[in-house]
Amino acid sequence: MSTVLTLKKLRIAVVGAGVIGLSAALHITEKFPDMVQVHLIADKFTPDTASDLTGMILWPFDLSEELKESERDSGESEYQENMKKWTRETFAKFHSIYRSEVNAEIQICLRTGYLTCYEDAHDPWWKECVFGFRRVNPKSTEAITANAPPACTELWAFTTYIVDCSNYMRWMMKEFLTNCGTIIKRKIESLNELSTYDIVVNCTGMRAGNLVEEHDMKPCRGQGLLVKAPWISAFIVDEIGLDLTYIIPRADTVVLGGTAEIGNASEEPDSSTTQGILERCFKLNPSLRKAQILGGWSGLRPLRSRVRLDTETGPTGSVVIHCYGHGGQGVVLSWGCAKDIGDIVQKQYRKQANL
Ligand SMILES: Cc1cc2nc3c(=O)[nH]c(=O)nc-3n(C[C@H](O)[C@H](O)[C@H](O)COP(=O)(O)OP(=O)(O)OC[C@H]3O[C@@H](n4cnc5c(N)ncnc54)[C@H](O)[C@@H]3O)c2cc1C
Repeated sequence: MSTVLTLKKLRIAVVGAGVIGLSAALHITEKFPDMVQVHLIADKFTPDTASDLTGMILWPFDLSEELKESERDSGESEYQENMKKWTRETFAKFHSIYRSEVNAEIQICLRTGYLTCYEDAHDPWWKECVFGFRRVNPKSTEAITANAPPACTELWAFTTYIVDCSNYMRWMMKEFLTNCGTIIKRKIESLNELSTYDIVVNCTGMRAGNLVEEHDMKPCRGQGLLVKAPWISAFIVDEIGLDLTYIIPRADTVVLGGTAEIGNASEEPDSSTTQGILERCFKLNPSLRKAQILGGWSGLRPLRSRVRLDTETGPTGSVVIHCYGHGGQGVVLSWGCAKDIGDIVQKQYRKQANL
């Protein structure tokens, strides 16, 4: 007679249903269907999270260097290696989505475009993630066709994924529910409310400081517009420090931006900022004057000198995993972070089951 060993499922609460929490919740249910019971708890779900409004281009826009006053301790290179690993893993996820039939629903598209440079720089580490990275002479016909600003010294050309994050999150949510995940709409006032769970994953983005002691987070406000301009097929990002102008064609609309205002926590679009964005984009590409404006939006990047991904022990012995502070790179880092969270869950399961 054979004995069937039934191990108790781990009860997991993922707090936060932005791109970070949702990716973590989906990955855990996909990877360990028989080991876990996952509750995704949030006061806002797609399409109402900050992530829905924002993520669009898969390219690491690292603003953390701008937090000059933040202390950076030792272990910096290990941290940079983690950032690279998380980025590579997210790209791998998008490669597999792009090749699959689910992309009929998500509509990730591959676009070629340009990033302007104003000083000599080494090739960026992420050139291995995007496709066909190359340097373009600013005087070339290609640069003129790209509407490169006359002052730039070089263009970096590459092909990468453009994502309408709202589509992506709607798909992830559906997959999570199909995997028997549970969603709970509720505001959490204290992580102690979740003491009955074995594992709590804190993915609360900009509001993490309401639940844990946190002195290193700053909002970095971004504002943009959505327009209809079907003749635009290449993206261009003109970045001089925090002065940012971009034109990013998605599957059926074009995003115009932007701003990166560190310390500004206003989530309301501001009309003079909108005007400034339009003027800068018209200067980059005058044909946009003919574009139909569909609407404007603004959102906050949860900026931290380092993304926080670590664990601590909760008051009743539960494991609390913190994952927040992804700044302008939440989408780019999302799947890599989800996989690290999955590894922590697996370790905990083995520990609890004495395996
Ligand atoms: C203008 C702009 C452009 C951007 N472009 C890009 C880009 O091109 N590529 C890229 O990778 N990234 C981009 N980003 C950054 C990216 O959008 C963020 O890093 C990402 O959205 C952060 O996701 P999150 O899940 O941590 O936070 P959020 O999306 O803010 O999700 C937080 C979740 O936690 C919940 N929550 C918080 N507190 C509580 C509580 N107490 N109780 C219950 N629920 C709670 C919320 O309801 C929500 O569900 C951009 C950001 C902006 C503003």
